[in-house]
Amino acid sequence: MPENKKLTDQVTKVDIVLLRPPVDTPFERFNDDSKKTIIGEPLGLALISSFLKASGIRVAFFDSPLENWDEQKTINEILALQPRVIGVLARYPFLASIERILSRIRSNIPEIYTIAGGQYATLNPRLLLDLVPSLDSVGCGDGEDLMLSVMMDILNEQKPSHSRLFSRKPSASSRSTASVSDLNTLPWADRKYLTTAQNLGFETVGITSSRGCPFRCSFCVPHIFSRTSAPSAWRARSVLSIADEIEHHWKEGNSLFTFSDEHFLPHKEAKLRAVDFADTVKYRNMEIEFMFDCRADSVEHALFAKLKRAGLMRVFIGFETLDSEGLLAFQKDLSSRHNLEAVRICKDLEIELIPGMIFFHPWATPMSVLANLEFHAQSFELFDWDDFTTCLKAIPGTPIVERIRADGLLGNLRNGLFEWSFKHRETDRLFTSFNQTLENYRSLYKKTASDKLALRSLKEHIIETLKNEVRNATK
Ligand code: SF4
Repeated sequence: MPENKKLTDQVTKVDIVLLRPPVDTPFERFNDDSKKTIIGEPLGLALISSFLKASGIRVAFFDSPLENWDEQKTINEILALQPRVIGVLARYPFLASIERILSRIRSNIPEIYTIAGGQYATLNPRLLLDLVPSLDSVGCGDGEDLMLSVMMDILNEQKPSHSRLFSRKPSASSRSTASVSDLNTLPWADRKYLTTAQNLGFETVGITSSRGCPFRCSFCVPHIFSRTSAPSAWRARSVLSIADEIEHHWKEGNSLFTFSDEHFLPHKEAKLRAVDFADTVKYRNMEIEFMFDCRADSVEHALFAKLKRAGLMRVFIGFETLDSEGLLAFQKDLSSRHNLEAVRICKDLEIELIPGMIFFHPWATPMSVLANLEFHAQSFELFDWDDFTTCLKAIPGTPIVERIRADGLLGNLRNGLFEWSFKHRETDRLFTSFNQTLENYRSLYKKTASDKLALRSLKEHIIETLKNEVRNATK
């Protein structure tokens, strides 16, 4: 326990507030079946919260979107606790909001220490310090050990110092790969917001069973995060540890689980772990359903059949696009053949697919958009409102940014993301017309979302409309 802790107890009600900042549109209750497997809780902050609490740190863990708090309410709640530290999850669309919140708090508590973390922060610590002037520092990589180190320094009246901590004075830190090497040693996540999220429609319980990804997709943050800030590209918990956590929640009445892992099956070792997990679920007689994310080229019939028998009901696969120029630029290191084979296997086993698609990217053409529409129409039952206007996000620090720059298509940095333009002007026009068309269906989609049959016919209608727009654009 820090020696000055008794002193701080007299003036502060908590040592640290961990904050997921407010979003523009408040979360509303939904009954859309395709979204019930989305994890509503901020699992990363929830893990840091339980880690700090286990070390005796007094933590207030706030999720403004789930609390339905705006900026002012968030500020009021934080000020009421007079914390020594605020640790905020930095997400690129909300950087201006984070700055407003932190600057208001600092004007009331001048000695407050402010730190941001998360994947965007790990890629862009210096940029984040520029964009959010009220931040004292940015933490890179895993948050658990780093935040404990920061808290011990603060509570002992010392200047925080850690090899993965970036402050405004460059000499204060240098990058290191030291991080949480054994995920089995972490306490389970703080479930403060599980029921709140479930009441909104996020029915699932999120489970973190691994971190990182050994692949190299050029638009993706997690694999850079794991390469630059973690001891290995993919770290995993043991089956025993995962099964114990799931069994705990299952005994409390939960039967739907979503693995938050970037990639559940990146290699042979991971596939063996998955087989072991399926056997353990059956051995413990747990009647559960679960989903995870993986790549198209990791879908194998025998493995998925076994996982299906253990409860695998849905998989998210980042197909991105069918066009080879896009796949090459994205460094997916697979071909459209893998995408088609993954769809075939999942259909055969009746495992639902949530597709990750990037319809619009700098090199997209009307014909690539048309091919992706047809692929979507033939392959997937489920669809989301914005599936057909999904756009590449050019996140600073990702390799795709340099590729776009080299082609002269990169624009300005806005709200933490780079703008870019289309190489083909007709794709630009198509993007605008798709957005206008889909806007007309927005309220109908919301009304239909809980009815699978009605949703299927709405999807067919929308896709036919969009295909006609592509044909008109290419006449
Ligand atoms: S497979 Fe997924 S997590 Fe891994 S690098 Fe590609 S997009 Fe990122």
